Amino acid sequence: MTKCPICQGQEYVIENDRVRDCECFKSKRRRLVLEKLGIPRSFEFAKLSDYDIRTDASGETLSEKDAKQKTTARAVVTAFIDEIPRLVGGETFAYEGGHSSPTLVMLGQRSSGKTLLAACITLAGVERNLPVHYYQWAEVMESCSQFDNPKAEELLARIKRSLDSRSLVVIDNLDSSYEFGEGSGDRRPLSTGIVRKLDYLFVGRAQNAAPLVITTDQNPSQLGAGKFGPVVTSLFDDANKIKLPTMGRGKDQHIIGE
Ligand SMILES: [Zn+2]
Repeated sequence: MTKCPICQGQEYVIENDRVRDCECFKSKRRRLVLEKLGIPRSFEFAKLSDYDIRTDASGETLSEKDAKQKTTARAVVTAFIDEIPRLVGGETFAYEGGHSSPTLVMLGQRSSGKTLLAACITLAGVERNLPVHYYQWAEVMESCSQFDNPKAEELLARIKRSLDSRSLVVIDNLDSSYEFGEGSGDRRPLSTGIVRKLDYLFVGRAQNAAPLVITTDQNPSQLGAGKFGPVVTSLFDDANKIKLPTMGRGKDQHIIGE
């Protein structure tokens, strides 16, 4: 690696007799934090302005309805980001005086920009030096579905600690693909053991009402319908939900802007 031309690799610069961190050190520190969080590399520099509200993922002009939905989604995420410091302090979130909950569920299919928005929220917390945790739903499922596996148990304990704390927790890609039986292609219900472990994981979060962001490719009726235990079900029921275009229509509850 070539040395930074500004500090010659010292990682600090002296300006007017004062020492300050060089930009190269700041970006190195940021990279380490994001790597530890597990944010996908391609979203390390995600910005809300990357969420294009005029076109879809392939660059086509959106219908008026989709454009409106995207505009609402971006406004809700912007408002949520502004509120993060208060949310980690125990307040709840209500968009324009609507439904009040610290949980935000973003519903969107592949290419709907849900990971981009989840990354923007996560990065906003990191930049404000607030406690943030980011998980993929695959990790949550791994932690709940493997029994007698020390690595899975360690992961379960780590996710549990995050959810029991007051920190911002972002869980990306709660996708239906994790419910298919291996190789069969048939959708099968989550086992009782997994449903119980999920409730165990989320019970602290349900009680302390700290900020939680979940992205999913499923609609509210798919998330309900007795799939999860009472704790997780009520988290989804009470959550603020926003729909990101390309989603099919479902039975909606508390969807802002509809
Ligand atoms: Zn430097």
